[in-house]
Amino acid sequence: MCRTIIRGNVITMDPDRPRAEAFAIADERITDVGSFEDVRAAAGSDCRVIDQPGASIIPGLIDTHNHMLSTGLQRRIVDLSSCQSIADIVAAVREFAQLHPQTAWIPSGKGWQIETFPDPRYPTRYELDEACPDRPVYLNRGGHIGIVNSRALAIAGIDRDTRDPEGGRIVRDQHGEPTGVLLEAPAFTLVERHVPPSSRAERKAALRDIQQAYHAAGLTGIIDPGLTPDDMSIYQELWQNGELTVRTVAMPLAQTEDEEDKVLAALAAMGMRTGFGDCKLKLGGIKVFMDGGASLGTALMRQPFPDERCNCGIQVTHTATFHRIAEFCARHGWSLGVHAVGGGAIDLTLAVFAEVDARHPIRDLRFSLIHAYLWPTPDNIATARRLGVAVATQPTMQYNFAPMLVKRFGAEAFGRATPIKSWLDGGVRVAGGSDSPINPYPPLLGVWHAITRYVDDLHETIGPEQAIAPETALALYTRDAAWLAFSEHERGMIRPGMLADWVALSVDPTACPAMEIRQAKVLRTVVGGKTVYEA
Ligand SMILES: [Zn+2]
Repeated sequence: MCRTIIRGNVITMDPDRPRAEAFAIADERITDVGSFEDVRAAAGSDCRVIDQPGASIIPGLIDTHNHMLSTGLQRRIVDLSSCQSIADIVAAVREFAQLHPQTAWIPSGKGWQIETFPDPRYPTRYELDEACPDRPVYLNRGGHIGIVNSRALAIAGIDRDTRDPEGGRIVRDQHGEPTGVLLEAPAFTLVERHVPPSSRAERKAALRDIQQAYHAAGLTGIIDPGLTPDDMSIYQELWQNGELTVRTVAMPLAQTEDEEDKVLAALAAMGMRTGFGDCKLKLGGIKVFMDGGASLGTALMRQPFPDERCNCGIQVTHTATFHRIAEFCARHGWSLGVHAVGGGAIDLTLAVFAEVDARHPIRDLRFSLIHAYLWPTPDNIATARRLGVAVATQPTMQYNFAPMLVKRFGAEAFGRATPIKSWLDGGVRVAGGSDSPINPYPPLLGVWHAITRYVDDLHETIGPEQAIAPETALALYTRDAAWLAFSEHERGMIRPGMLADWVALSVDPTACPAMEIRQAKVLRTVVGGKTVYEA
């Protein structure tokens, strides 16, 4: 069989042989790893050599918390998250409209801010008309406000004679003309109900298209947590068509508006469980939310938020419900990943895990805490270790949220958040990820931040005591990520028998100055022996 030999500075992530000069591939798997001479002797004379001189080769990077389908969809709406002024918003809408001439409605992503603008107000319909006069524009900030252009007002039939709906307000100028700003749901749903939901074809295309960007960043695999049945079927369709090139572990969402018992019954009736599938698409654990987020003030805290004396956050899932789900998982061979941001949520999740474990051991099921960043205690760490509970951490979250959360909690306290070193020193398995699209997906940004804990916007290192060594940071996104994906026998290392998933980088991340890691160029990304990206 004709083999391919890859030659470069190979960082295998295999503890038995951390470095090599070359490795050989036959079909989609790695056959030999070692010195170039040995690998060539084993591969025979009839082989192709891919030289990556000067490049460092690492196993394909895996993101253990990445909403890939949502990230793909996010690319199909206007992203206003980095706008600093009204002019930026108008420019973003104009650019999107020009780039997407086929899109009937111009919708925006949620969660953008105007508070830091020099002129902190919302754009008017007339400003949006300048950006896009011929098609409706609907900017949704999430929650309480929608901003639209004249075309959208016309489609919704809103004019100066329209009365405010009960519980909502159509903001008007001094002449009584609607300005385009609609306050509260009863007002903006007048427009929103005309916005067509994204079609199945669009959702499929969004998922298919985002993969190329992921490969360009060095990603070869992800875990997509919290999928609906519709999401799951889109993944399956792509997989069936041979179009799923980012290896995916799919985590179905169990808790769906008090229907979790139905979901669990359906899962039990199917008889399948975590691990079903192949190396392209596999069932992961069930995903449950225990609380909300720190920036929204809905993370379940042990004490009130420092800036909101009466707010301890929200417990999203009742303890009894969560107990039922955890017990179901332990009994039926499902893994379980629990979104737990605040200390209250971490305490509660581990307490229930311990109770369930006393009757049905959970160690082999690799239950995990997702995020778990607002101050796990030494007790939490000891419990996680004892139960074999892993942590899916997101250095990118620590990096991205630092400016906002340092304001909220102070630099000292937020420096102790995302305590990767404490988890690892305590003997807990930790895997890395991004939580894209909430945070940027490039895995090297996460690797870099785990090593440096540096935050550009603050010009400061936040919590340097929790920084980890480059090899350890790389392991979070390779070997340990593969383990959390139930794929450690196939991925996460460059080792004979493993899938040929690898990335060639312009720098050696274990040897270069830390600041260079995030600027490292991905030169080539290979999945199962096939080049899926080349610079
Ligand atoms: Zn998430």
